[in-house]
Amino acid sequence: MANTKIITKKSLQFFEKYLNNASPTGYEWEGQKIWMEYLKPYVDTFITDTYGSAVGVINPEAQYKVVIEGHSDEISWYVNYITDNGLLYVIRNGGSDHQIAPSKWVNIHTKAGVVTGVFGWPAIHTRDKSKETPPKLDNIFIDIGAKDKEEVEKMGVHVGCVITYPDEFHILNKDKFVCRAIDNRAGGFMVAEVARLLHENKKKLPFGLYITNAVQEEIGLRGAEMITQTIKPNVAIITDVCHDTTTPMIDQKTQGHTEIGQGPVISYAPAVQNKLRERIIETAEAKKIPFQRMAASRSTGTDTDAFAYSNGGVASALISLPLRYMHTTVETVHRNDVENVIRLIYETLLNIKEGESFSYFD
Ligand SMILES: [Zn+2]
Repeated sequence: MANTKIITKKSLQFFEKYLNNASPTGYEWEGQKIWMEYLKPYVDTFITDTYGSAVGVINPEAQYKVVIEGHSDEISWYVNYITDNGLLYVIRNGGSDHQIAPSKWVNIHTKAGVVTGVFGWPAIHTRDKSKETPPKLDNIFIDIGAKDKEEVEKMGVHVGCVITYPDEFHILNKDKFVCRAIDNRAGGFMVAEVARLLHENKKKLPFGLYITNAVQEEIGLRGAEMITQTIKPNVAIITDVCHDTTTPMIDQKTQGHTEIGQGPVISYAPAVQNKLRERIIETAEAKKIPFQRMAASRSTGTDTDAFAYSNGGVASALISLPLRYMHTTVETVHRNDVENVIRLIYETLLNIKEGESFSYFD
């Protein structure tokens, strides 16, 4: 495995299709269908829940259960207020960035389909240069080309419609993947690739493997909180994105030093079970998979915490994919890191025995 390329033409096509589809928090099911369709040949069965989390299961009869997980939702906006002259004010659905909004195209999702709009912004000529107003939640607005509120409503747009960015997948300089929502469509992609490799390499696991794509991470780990109660796992390996801190205006003394191209990032945090994390590190060292370290004070800010603090405590760990420009429409990751996260999760699974407690007292 160590030196072979993991991402194939077919898997890259899936990743692109999966990324280009909008999957805003609370409305993830179309993306989940794309993901399940890709995963189907590699699993025995699926579990889905009321709010849309999806799980591909290998060995569903097994008592001992291991989860590998990413989250399926992407940050977006809600229409919150419509002015009499037909402009839309928004609130966040997840950590959407007000600073990047002006001049972006948007897709407004309505019952009748997508309505296109733009975040407008006052022209440079009309602004007071001595006191520039930065974009904020209360001054950014969307123009859908309607002359008044009545026309907005006729177009099918109302308060509560969800808004996403249309930006699609690109490759920069051969090995940098760029798109909105790589946070965390990459997670779903990577855990699905682990399942594909297990299948193609005819690896039989001695436990149940639950390849999980949770909804609603971006608004507080909610999908993971739900699905962990359904699965009741013994072990959970979570994958999400973390910051590349080497680009401008990021303070490494407070944010740490992690960067794209340098390998998966392994977290140290209270929710991370130390023995499970050491198993991952030993695996990386044995298989010569490069890795970086990161520390989190209190919460990891990822689904790791939701799994760890459920069901009386689930041995959990976090393997992150370093990413530039998080929560913008040009999130950027390195292809080698994507492959190395897949490799590290795969090899770690082969290093877990059925029934392991990871107890500190054995
Ligand atoms: Zn995020």
